[in-house]
Amino acid sequence: MIRQFFKKIFTSPRLGKASTKAESHVGTHRPVKQEHGYAAARVEVLHLHQHNINRHLASSNAIRVCETLQNEGFRAYIVGGAVRDLLLGIRPKDFDVATDAEPEQVQRHFRRARIIGRRFRLVHVMFGPETIEVSTFRALQTETSEVDEHGRVLRDNVFGEQHEDAARRDFTVNALYYDPKTETVLDYHHGVRDLRAKTLRIIGDPALRFREDPVRMLRVVRFAAKLQFDIAPDTRAPIAAMADLIQNVPAARLFDEMLKLLQSGSALACLKRMRLEGLHDGLFPLLDAILDHPTAEPFIMSALAKTDERVRAEKPISPGFLFACLLWHLVQERWQLRKSGGEVDIPALFAAMDDVFDKQLEHMAIPRKITSDIREIWALQPRFEKRNGKAPFRLIEHPRFRAALDFLELRASCKEADTDLAVWWRTFSDLDGHAREDFLTTLNAQKSAGTGLKKRRKRRKPNRGEEGGAGFTESNSHDSDAADAT
Ligand code: ATP
Ligand code: MG
Repeated sequence: MIRQFFKKIFTSPRLGKASTKAESHVGTHRPVKQEHGYAAARVEVLHLHQHNINRHLASSNAIRVCETLQNEGFRAYIVGGAVRDLLLGIRPKDFDVATDAEPEQVQRHFRRARIIGRRFRLVHVMFGPETIEVSTFRALQTETSEVDEHGRVLRDNVFGEQHEDAARRDFTVNALYYDPKTETVLDYHHGVRDLRAKTLRIIGDPALRFREDPVRMLRVVRFAAKLQFDIAPDTRAPIAAMADLIQNVPAARLFDEMLKLLQSGSALACLKRMRLEGLHDGLFPLLDAILDHPTAEPFIMSALAKTDERVRAEKPISPGFLFACLLWHLVQERWQLRKSGGEVDIPALFAAMDDVFDKQLEHMAIPRKITSDIREIWALQPRFEKRNGKAPFRLIEHPRFRAALDFLELRASCKEADTDLAVWWRTFSDLDGHAREDFLTTLNAQKSAGTGLKKRRKRRKPNRGEEGGAGFTESNSHDSDAADAT
């Protein structure tokens, strides 16, 4: 009883917090001048009947993180895109939490938590496969923030108040805070009003905010395409003139952003919008060639439509397969050109791959693991033509075989590869060992008898995890590579 009493006293949120707060002002945490002045006066608080968020759409882990921190006397909210999506009735794909606890204070309250980041230090709290990203309220930019010669912010880790944190976020609809305990939404920039009007509006001076971080221009395009929102005229106005600033962003971050765009569930709409806003030159110079290529059109449309379908069904996507699709026609074009110049078939293909990568990689750093997957998917295409002797057995053992077969099928569906060939390989790969031998013998017999291939498909039960089509599903290992690059 007495122990419980002491425990209560010493873990009481108010008492516990008083001492931590004093600590927290030392170092990077700027002393709080006016605890609730300006912020409290400006914030709009919406209650459940006003916002109608369905709490069950929120991650129970994100709620747990908020509650744990709140029980320790800190403030903690679900923030950003997750609140935007909850208000739209969409289940968010990831959850961020914002708090007044500093990274070390957050870390010590969770079993699996690590501090990451240089530009912004934040905490990843891990629950099985889910990671909740917890960031400490950031102060507004100051003269001490490190920027490059174009005004791009390189590093600033100064902690601040919640209203400052809100003002630093990109768009009004992304600057909302949801407290799952009280079920209230804090709105500092009329984000809910903009959300209802389906408008993306940058917070603050648009040109300044895009200069600080040019990636915001890509983000606005992604959200506009994905959510089918309009971009507010004054937010949109400076984009065309500032598009070149994209080139100053590290190539690895651009790749990451490009992947988000392609995996948004509205990839085609995003790419078109990106071109409309003139943002592709510095990032994806090949996009014009891709979207205007007469023979590429059905192939790319089909690949992107399939990708969007899978994203919407919450199935994983392989970045290697996606980029292999996007860049394939350019490789083919270069390949034909080299062959007509007298180069030998396969070396010409490899040289064509280098041509395309050389042009693309200076703008967007595709991680090496992914470029090697892309090359393999392409390089395996001519090998599907060889169905004699041991060649099919060797090909089927190749780690990229399934992705390459998906790719062949996509080509066949667009009449750019032989449909019979694709059907043959799918049938062959679905069979068990001995049946494969028989199947090959039949093919050879048919060939020598001069008859076509018309064999009924005998289905083998797919192994677990094979059903999705490997081209799209081999993403898990790539995801971490993409993250490594950022
Ligand atoms: P998504 O649905 O793609 O996850 P999101 O808005 O949640 O969209 P995140 O990249 O997860 O995007 O970022 C979470 C939040 O962090 C954003 O909603 C926004 O408030 C803030 N944020 C992210 N990137 C920036 C940026 N470049 N500038 C300012 N704020 C940003
Ligand atoms: Mg998010």
